[in-house]
Amino acid sequence: MKRDFLSTPIEYLKGVGPQKAEVLQAEINVFRYGDLLRFFPFRYIDKSKITSISELNEESAAIQLRGKLSNIRVIGADRGKRLVANLIDKTGVIELLWFKNYQYILKVLKEDAHYTVYGKVNAFMGKLSIAHPEIKLYDPKDDEKGYQMEPVYPLTEKLKSRFMDSKYILSLVKQILQSPEFECLDHIPDSVLKPLNLISRKSALYHMHLPSSEQAALASARRIKFEEMFTLAMRSEKIKSKRWQEMNGFKMTQSGVLLKEFYHNHLSFELTDAQKRVIKEIRTDMRSGHQMNRLLQGDVGSGKTIVALFCMLMCIDNNAQACMMAPTEILATQHYITLKDQVQGLPIKVELLTGSTSKKKRNSILEELKSGDIHILIGTHALIENDVEFQKLGLAVIDEQHRFGVAQRAELWNKYKTKPHVLVMTATPIPRTLAMTIHGELEVSVIDELPKNRKPIRTVQREERYRSEVMEFLKLEILKGRQAYIVYPLIEESGKLNLNDLMNGYDLVCSFFPIPQYQISLMHGKLKPEVKALEMQRFKDGVTQIMISTTVIEVGVNVPNASVMVIEDSNRFGLSQLHQLRGRVGRGAEQSYCILMTKEDLNYPAKRRIQTMCATNNGFDISEVDLELRGPGDVMGTRQSGLPEFKLLDLVKDTEIIDLAKRAAAYIIKNDPTLEKAEHSLLLEYLLAHQDDHFWSRVS
Ligand code: ADP
Ligand code: MG
Repeated sequence: MKRDFLSTPIEYLKGVGPQKAEVLQAEINVFRYGDLLRFFPFRYIDKSKITSISELNEESAAIQLRGKLSNIRVIGADRGKRLVANLIDKTGVIELLWFKNYQYILKVLKEDAHYTVYGKVNAFMGKLSIAHPEIKLYDPKDDEKGYQMEPVYPLTEKLKSRFMDSKYILSLVKQILQSPEFECLDHIPDSVLKPLNLISRKSALYHMHLPSSEQAALASARRIKFEEMFTLAMRSEKIKSKRWQEMNGFKMTQSGVLLKEFYHNHLSFELTDAQKRVIKEIRTDMRSGHQMNRLLQGDVGSGKTIVALFCMLMCIDNNAQACMMAPTEILATQHYITLKDQVQGLPIKVELLTGSTSKKKRNSILEELKSGDIHILIGTHALIENDVEFQKLGLAVIDEQHRFGVAQRAELWNKYKTKPHVLVMTATPIPRTLAMTIHGELEVSVIDELPKNRKPIRTVQREERYRSEVMEFLKLEILKGRQAYIVYPLIEESGKLNLNDLMNGYDLVCSFFPIPQYQISLMHGKLKPEVKALEMQRFKDGVTQIMISTTVIEVGVNVPNASVMVIEDSNRFGLSQLHQLRGRVGRGAEQSYCILMTKEDLNYPAKRRIQTMCATNNGFDISEVDLELRGPGDVMGTRQSGLPEFKLLDLVKDTEIIDLAKRAAAYIIKNDPTLEKAEHSLLLEYLLAHQDDHFWSRVS
């Protein structure tokens, strides 16, 4: 059957065999013919272009020359022995060199014959040469071939060491593309391809490897990119549409005694407009009868927690329970303390469940969850253990989502017949369109405003030699009654955490801030949970003025009186981490400061990160720079976020294609939600066949 041609194991291709097949599989994930066709070149060399020798300079990349060969000779002795020939064209002369295995080449090279030469220019003491060039006798017929783009593939060192180079790959690809059996069905319907001027799948695969023109290569890339986004968008649209049709969510229509009571008598500040808007969006979802899956984006300190509390109260008003999951024990504990405090006086029972909850306490919590006595359960991923059963879980809030694996999230609600509403809160905001692309099946809400009482944090860079000034500044702040964090990067060496920097730092800081005049907390991940909790509490209560810590305090920790954040070796941190850390200050009404300690000479990305931090407080702007420096895969943690790895699509740059593909997918699903029309049968088949390719960031 023709369709199966592309599923043929790669080892059956001429020139492969079992051993090379193993290398292809291990190195570039090529198992079948079709995989090889999707192993795309990352650039092309124009082999129809001939460069003049006089145009060459030290910066010339790989180029093609044509000229007469003369003065072929072997020179040097022992290890310096080499074959040299001069290539002469109308404009100049360049030396061609061979150091290895030149006996054979020496035999075939012809003095005074014309050759086409291809290679990379080297400069040695100002003199240009090409070592080990590709060289072939000039054939006037070559001129008639016109456009000749030769693909260059992204090869690994191992492939190269086995002589499996771009030419080799191309020879394999050609066998497949030029076989009469090569056929490939197009799962994107004509109704989409035609109006968007997209070429067929078959043609795109062909011209990616053997482009007949530059336009053909571009059109192929456009088609493949579209396909990557379209497939992703089809899946999201299908999930959304299914969820929408099933009407399987808790319908929470009670407008709520608790909510009103809380709003009027417990809330100590005015909500920002953005918070109000987002609460409304969520309320609409929760009343709709559909299960909500919403992503709440908001910069550090934008007040996401209070939004979550509003939603949980709505849920309790409708006789269901709520839970909130945080990535660390510190954070869960802190949420528990604040929340309990905020709802004091309301008839609500809040409990905390973490890995260090005692067995006895845990058992009683489990009991009360089942009986419905507990209204809100806060915790770490201890919440998703199997025996944690709610009587009626109506809403699950997940805080600081980037720390969680996808699988962990899913378990929360799988066991319930009616799935709870889900609110995922993230503090690593990314541009809205990007968020909607990646989390296509989630609704996205954004808090784009900070509470009014905030003063922007002042951020500066200080080199190590200004340490004593920095410490003096801290003293002044402490004198004013403020507190400070000093954060050290944690170094991981062969799987072990190295606390040396932190401990040395502690000693150094102590030398500036003598005990007992000053009190210092020390915090790191290896401490026992109860010690951590105690240190956190001492700092919160103002017993200690300085908190020396690793990044365990990175997310969510809230001590409004802390006004200085010193980040040691800040050039070693990533942008989003720096921004998160900085977000630990500036939480009260006082002016806050972030001091980025660095060494003196920074490399480009580090310099750019530090400059960005000094220039802006806006998390969305920072994430854009981060995307530019690292690419979306790394920023979102591709695997963790469930984002498929795109071969060609660039989530940041290809916005036009992304938009087209999303609209096309939405249109199809709107008109044919189950894809039962004949024209969509291939599409349906394709989606079903590939549904396990990527692990989804699906929340339900
Ligand atoms: P994040 O969005 O980073 O999780 P939090 O929810 O921890 O931020 O809120 C940070 C601080 O701001 C908390 O102390 C919270 O009580 C306070 N806060 C939240 N909303 C407002 C508001 N509208 N006005 C003033 N303070 C607020
Ligand atoms: Mg938070």
